[in-house]
Amino acid sequence: MINYFKDVLGGFYSLLAGMAVTIRYFVKPIVTVQYPRHKIEMTPRYRGYPQLIIDPETHTHRCIACEMCSRICPSQLITLDGTKFPGEKQKRATKYIHEHQYCSLCGLCTEVCPTDALEYSKEYRLAGYRREDAVIDHLVLLQHRQYAVGLPVTPIPTEAEIAAAIAEEAAAKEAKAKAAEKAKAKEAPAEEVKK
Ligand code: SF4
Ligand code: SF4
Repeated sequence: MINYFKDVLGGFYSLLAGMAVTIRYFVKPIVTVQYPRHKIEMTPRYRGYPQLIIDPETHTHRCIACEMCSRICPSQLITLDGTKFPGEKQKRATKYIHEHQYCSLCGLCTEVCPTDALEYSKEYRLAGYRREDAVIDHLVLLQHRQYAVGLPVTPIPTEAEIAAAIAEEAAAKEAKAKAAEKAKAKEAPAEEVKK
């Protein structure tokens, strides 16, 4: 009989202890998030994939396609291309592909960039079903990011536009070389007369 009451009291005590834990956590702030509906704020030093920075003044990227990032990358995972368009002083990226499945997040690409064009994203949803899911086209991603915050979207030049820009650049270089040759030819007889 005594054992029976001992068991009842023991059960009642453990019920109260369990309820106390439940009530304590009931009034504490919630630490879990409703993934994937809620997004987590990552810490400032979190490293997602490197991405192109949106310049606060020009509202576009600052990549001049110098290829320093792709050359220094130990995994050789960056493929990029760039063209100098008429009226522009520098080249600009026309293709920037990042194969994130090979990235060690070493940071060399962000450090070497002469125009500070790269930063780490805060993206943590990086799972995919196929290897190709980790391949990032940074110019397309930039467009999505610009669109998401209501900025004008940077157009990606078509192959025809790139070919026209290259042809125009080559023609301008040829014309410059010819003009320099002409000027040299004019100077030569004048120097001979002086002698
Ligand atoms: S963080 Fe390192 S491995 Fe990743 S793209 Fe940059 S240089 Fe390559
Ligand atoms: S180092 Fe910077 S500017 Fe040069 S290609 Fe890479 S991202 Fe563009």
